[in-house]
Amino acid sequence: MKQFHVHINEKEEFIINSKENEAFSICITNNPYYKEREMPTTVMRIEGNRWSGEQMDNLEWEEKILTKGNKISIEIKDSYNKASKLFKDERYVKPEDECTFCHKKKSEVKHLIAAEFFALICDACISECVRLINEKEKT
Ligand SMILES: [Zn+2]
Repeated sequence: MKQFHVHINEKEEFIINSKENEAFSICITNNPYYKEREMPTTVMRIEGNRWSGEQMDNLEWEEKILTKGNKISIEIKDSYNKASKLFKDERYVKPEDECTFCHKKKSEVKHLIAAEFFALICDACISECVRLINEKEKT
């Protein structure tokens, strides 16, 4: 199995399995929440998503406070080491798709067509567009 091994200062290692329906990201941020608590502000978070049908799990493997001089490296390997334990696993049910224009749900329309940039349009809105275009072309 393909695994991602994340090292901090060539020591601490977090192992994340790379499954087909899983994505993860490593986010390094200056988080004001930590500043309020007078802690160092640079935080690294390893998080991701797992999809199965209409459900998505928000996963979080690790959150580490980083300081100056820290080095992070990621190694991609074919290995079967034990994956790091998740400390957050929240299920999120994907809301029903809807038309970007009239907001009717997928179940309320005959067809819902996906366009670029995540826009969806239903058959009724397409008919209305065709009607408007025809009207404009007459004048
Ligand atoms: Zn519509």
